[in-house]
Amino acid sequence: MAKTDLYEAPDYYLLDELLSEEHKLIRASVRDWVKKEVSPVIEDYAQKAEFPKHLLKGLAEIGAFGPTIPVEYGGAGLDYMAYGIIMQEIERGDSGIRSTASVQGSLVMFPINAYGSEEQKHKYLPKLASGELMGCFGLTEPDHGSNPGGMVTNIKDAGDHYILNGAKMWISNSPFADIAIVWAKDEEGKIRGLIVERGMEGFTTPETHNKWSLRASATGELVFDNVKVPKANLLPNVSGLKGPLGCLNQARYGIAWGALGAAMDCYDTALRYSKERVQFGRPIGGFQLQQKKLAEMITEITKGQLLVWRLATLKNEGRATAAQISMAKRNSVEIAINIAREARQMLGGMGITGEYPIMRHMMNLESVITYEGTHDIHLLITGMDVTGENAFK
Ligand SMILES: Cc1cc2nc3c(=O)[nH]c(=O)nc-3n(C[C@H](O)[C@H](O)[C@H](O)COP(=O)(O)OP(=O)(O)OC[C@H]3O[C@@H](n4cnc5c(N)ncnc54)[C@H](O)[C@@H]3O)c2cc1C
Repeated sequence: MAKTDLYEAPDYYLLDELLSEEHKLIRASVRDWVKKEVSPVIEDYAQKAEFPKHLLKGLAEIGAFGPTIPVEYGGAGLDYMAYGIIMQEIERGDSGIRSTASVQGSLVMFPINAYGSEEQKHKYLPKLASGELMGCFGLTEPDHGSNPGGMVTNIKDAGDHYILNGAKMWISNSPFADIAIVWAKDEEGKIRGLIVERGMEGFTTPETHNKWSLRASATGELVFDNVKVPKANLLPNVSGLKGPLGCLNQARYGIAWGALGAAMDCYDTALRYSKERVQFGRPIGGFQLQQKKLAEMITEITKGQLLVWRLATLKNEGRATAAQISMAKRNSVEIAINIAREARQMLGGMGITGEYPIMRHMMNLESVITYEGTHDIHLLITGMDVTGENAFK
C-alpha cells in the first residue's frame, strides 16, 4: 500500500537563512522527488531485499549523479553545499538509495574526472551522469577492509593490456554495474585505478545476500580471473593509496550530510507520533521522558547541521581537510543511529514495523557506520590529527 510522506524538515536554528535561493530550490525538487518516488515504495523493496532499479532514471534527472562534475562532461557543475543537500534529502528517504548516488558520483565519476584522461572523461562521464551507464567502486577485499593498502588484487603488464587477478567484496551496485573502478597493485606494488567493463572475459559480480541492512541496495563481489584490461582503461593521473582515499573523501563528505537526513526523518516521525499517540489520557509528547528524547534529538541534529554547513563552506573554498570530513562523517552517523534508536522506542511496538521508516533507517545506519571507514577508524583519524601519532598502523 502506498504511504503518504508527511515529512517536515527540522530547522531549529533558522539555518535556511544560510542557504542561497538556488540551494533551497534544489532541496525542494529533491525532497519532492523523494516524497513522490521513494517513500511510497521503499519499504516494500527493503522487505523484499531488492534494489528499486526503476529509480535510477529519476536519480539522474534530479542531478544526483555527479552534481559537482563540470557541465562539459554532463555533470551539473554545482557546489559542495548543493551536493550535500542532495545527499541529505535522498538519505532522508533511504540510505541505500543515497549509497547508489554516492557511489556513482563520488566513487566512479569523481576518479574518472580527477584522475582520468580527456578521452576517458568524454567516453564515460556523460553516460554516467545520465544513468545510461552505472558504476561501482572496488577497493575492499575479503582480507583487507580497514587496511586497503594491504590489497592483493593485482595487474601484470602484458603488452597492450594488463592481466587483472583478485577479488573485491562488499561492493555497492556491483550486481548491476556496467563498469567498475578497480584498485589493484602493479608489479612494483603501486596501487593503480582501472576501469573494468562488464562483459570482459573472466570478470563476474556475484550478489551478496542475507543482509539485514541496506536491504534496498544491491551489494556484491567483483571477481577477476585473468581479465584482460586494455591499457587505455588505466586511470593515468594517480598512483598510490591517495587515489582511492581521494574518492573516499568525496563520498564521506556526502555521508556526513546524508546520515543527518536519516536522523531528521526519525526525529520528524517521532515528533509527529508523540503528538498523536495518547496514553494515560494525554499525548505521549506531554510526558517528560518523551520530551527529553525529542529535546536531545533536535539539539544533536542542530549541532550536526551547523557542522556540515561549515564543512561545505570550507570544501567550496578548497580548505576542508580529510580529518575534518572524518569528524563530520563520524558525528553524523553516530547521532543518526542514536536518534533512530530513541525514536524507535518512542513509537513503542509500532516502531518495529514497516509502517514507519525508523527501523529501516536504524538497520541501514549499521552499514553507514561501517563503510567508508569504520567508526573506530574515523575516531583514530581525529586522534592522529590532533596528536600527530598514528594509532592504527
Ligand atoms: C553494505 C556495505 C556496502 C559497502 N560498499 C562498499 C563499496 O562500494 N566499495 C568498497 O570498496 N567497499 C565497500 N564496503 C566495505 C566497507 O568499506 C568495509 O566493510 C569497511 O571498510 C570495514 O572493513 P571490514 O568490513 O573488512 O572490517 P575490518 O577492517 O575487518 O574491521 C573489523 C573491526 O576492527 C576494527 N579495526 C580495524 N582496524 C583497526 C585498528 N587499526 N584499530 C582499531 N580498530 C580497528 C574496525 O573498526 C571494525 O570494528 C561496504 C560495506 C558494507 C557493509
